[in-house]
Amino acid sequence: MLSRNKVSRNCSRTRITDAPFVDPAADLPDCISLDPLTEDSLLANLLSRFKRDQIYTYIGNILLSINPYKPLAQYTEQAIADYKLRTVAISQLPPHVYALADHAWRSLRDFYSDQVIVITGESGSGKTEASKLILQYLGFATGKSKELETVRQQLLLCNPVLEAFGNAKSIHNDNSSRFGKYIELEFDYKGEPVGGLITHYLLEKSRVTAQHPGERNFHIFFQLLAGADVQLLKSLKLQRNTENYLYLRNNHSNPSVWHQSDKDEFFNTKKALESVGFSAEDIVNIFRIVAAVLKLGNLIFTPVSNIDGTEGCSINNDYELEEVATLLMIPADELRSALLYRTYSVSCSAMDAHGMAVGGGGGANCFSRDSTLPRDSTTSRTFLGNNHQSHSQPQQILLQQRTSLLSTSASMVGRDMYQMMDGCHGSDVGFQAALASRAYQDAKDDFVMTDLSAAEATTGRDALCKALYYRLFTWIINSINERIKVKQHGKRRILGVLDIYGFENLPVNGFEQLIINYCNEKLQHYVTEIVVKEEQEIYMQEGLEWSPILFPDNLAVCDLIEKHNLGLLAIMDEECQRSTNGSDDAFLSRVGQVFQDNIQIEVAWGLLSKNADSTAMNAFRLKHYAGWVTYSVAGFLQKNSDLLVRGLSQSMYQCAHPIVKELFPEGNPRRTTLRRPATSGTQFKMAIIALMRSLRSKNPHFVRCIKPNAFKQPHHFDVQTIQQQIRHLGLLETAQVKKNGFAFRQPYAWFLQRYKMLSTVTWPHWGGVAIEGAARLLRDLPISATEYAFGRRMLFIKNDSTLMQLEDFRTIR
Ligand code: ATP
Ligand code: MG
Repeated sequence: MLSRNKVSRNCSRTRITDAPFVDPAADLPDCISLDPLTEDSLLANLLSRFKRDQIYTYIGNILLSINPYKPLAQYTEQAIADYKLRTVAISQLPPHVYALADHAWRSLRDFYSDQVIVITGESGSGKTEASKLILQYLGFATGKSKELETVRQQLLLCNPVLEAFGNAKSIHNDNSSRFGKYIELEFDYKGEPVGGLITHYLLEKSRVTAQHPGERNFHIFFQLLAGADVQLLKSLKLQRNTENYLYLRNNHSNPSVWHQSDKDEFFNTKKALESVGFSAEDIVNIFRIVAAVLKLGNLIFTPVSNIDGTEGCSINNDYELEEVATLLMIPADELRSALLYRTYSVSCSAMDAHGMAVGGGGGANCFSRDSTLPRDSTTSRTFLGNNHQSHSQPQQILLQQRTSLLSTSASMVGRDMYQMMDGCHGSDVGFQAALASRAYQDAKDDFVMTDLSAAEATTGRDALCKALYYRLFTWIINSINERIKVKQHGKRRILGVLDIYGFENLPVNGFEQLIINYCNEKLQHYVTEIVVKEEQEIYMQEGLEWSPILFPDNLAVCDLIEKHNLGLLAIMDEECQRSTNGSDDAFLSRVGQVFQDNIQIEVAWGLLSKNADSTAMNAFRLKHYAGWVTYSVAGFLQKNSDLLVRGLSQSMYQCAHPIVKELFPEGNPRRTTLRRPATSGTQFKMAIIALMRSLRSKNPHFVRCIKPNAFKQPHHFDVQTIQQQIRHLGLLETAQVKKNGFAFRQPYAWFLQRYKMLSTVTWPHWGGVAIEGAARLLRDLPISATEYAFGRRMLFIKNDSTLMQLEDFRTIR
């Protein structure tokens, strides 16, 4: 048992800090065997095992995994064979992520039902490593034919590609996933993989243009510069030194070098791209986009005063622009003009095109909501045009009249413009809209151009780079999906593996952290519902003797974020529609009003951040299942709106680069849509709701990952850090439910049908009441009576090992 003396000491090679520590008496593979079962004994057990590099421990059928932060010798082909071939009983093999993967796969094959492995834990706790090991196991454990071998290879090899483009160094993790990943493997009736599907969730694209102190941009940028040979670099117009690129220079810190060599990783990424099936041409085209993003980021816009007193800007380093234009295969003038001017189309079709460019969908028009570029028609010069042809004098006058109408409309704030578009004619705004609308109907194919200020052009450039990168990422995943999708007909079952970005609490948190933590809240809720709440409810419904175990419920904070009309995401959407710029603070005020009596959220104005520069920020604090997190609201609305100006998407559509053109379908001037696109927050919420629905339809298996210390160090067991995670994850409650509860349950009829051959009494058919048949059958088997219980409708089995024993009896019979 642990005593509460705070010491730091070395125990063999393992450093134990902040430890209320006494050598543990027990070292058990399953925590539910601990007696007594307390937080202390649980911690002691984990520590004792960690010291022996036994990073895996069970809590019933849940697997705990502590990140060792060092390579371990337990992931060999021999280890895979041990778990697969089972020359000894599985209970005699140490707990392992392979055992969990094997159990999920056998459940799929033997019970022919969909399974899902849900991996949770803080950032840096080892989720992605666990997901890779699971895929590795499933790959090795199954499939022999050539066709299956190809599927297996593609499924295993897509991971380096996803990590190169979707992972980055963060302060919590050198290889942090900056997107959520859900891989569904599809198996045929024999349990062999026949294909798969990768779903990704909201890549943190803001990282392309700026990173938190101590963090890096996505790996691929560094890999490309370090690993590309001289010829490739030259063709991409790149230089090897990362310092030459603004997006790679994190002003707050040294351009930190990842512990793995970027050069080697580039080789792996390129090889993986080839193995997954990308052609040499595809690969070069992908790198051309990556290079274009880097070089676009270097464009410097200098303010220029126009003769009429308005402000515009020019590009300082025009040669970089020319090179970007070559990479994207677009005339430099087209690209320059898209970056320096805003074009308002006044064509009839554009009036109908109501949606803005978001994530590759939607059209755009002169009224489109555009939060990325603050609109100020008074400081910009206006040009008029008609398909680039000069106008006659009368035409010019007509256009000028229309332009003044346009300016009136353009200077209105967003919601008013939407009112106009939505046809709310009961107000002055509606009246103006009607007038404007009529004028534009007359002015088919006309457009006006206004100068952008240097700041506006910079914001537009960044928005373009984020869109290019994000859409490229999506394109890569879609292409991989196309290659791994099931090509045969027939019934199949799914085994899903969910690896999502871990909970984060940075010195300054923003919109991205809210999204990441919201996702983690939802998963936490899903896990506790299934593991603790529903389990107990079933015992009680079935009439088993049960003393309820209380557990922390996080439903309230999920609601606070996602509630229809009144949640944080809904309030954000409302503000995005209300105004085009500068209303992050208005959003915060509204949050303060709506949640003034809610103790799980606090609003703070002018808070001093924990950063060295101590910048004041307007923020709210939210009480998550893993503690309080402070979110600075700066940039919330812009990131939520996530829009790209029409001129930029149109210019991308003009590119002869085969991928880029495909990435910006809304840039097609002929494409129109009336649909207003959902905001980032709402799209994410919908995706998460769909994900939860999908998880709920499958039989779950859980891996709960734990980070041993905050320093990414091996041999360092920081008791306080681990204790906190044990509490946040509700692991003691889980262990109590599992200790007293049952690993498996099925209706009596199902049980009889499956195991009737194990007794002469039930074989070939049991004619009586199912519960009695099950009881007779069990009596004939060498299974202890403490291993099962009879509920009203179902038979309950205490341990997984007993179920496996039953399955073994079936096979040997
Ligand atoms: P995030 O939420 O930030 O994506 P994560 O939970 O996915 O974090 P990982 O990337 O899986 O964390 O792990 C972080 C690092 O810890 C890995 O890059 C690796 O160095 C180390 N690590 C994790 N698990 C293991 C393991 N089983 N064996 C050896 N090293 C590991
Ligand atoms: Mg990860």
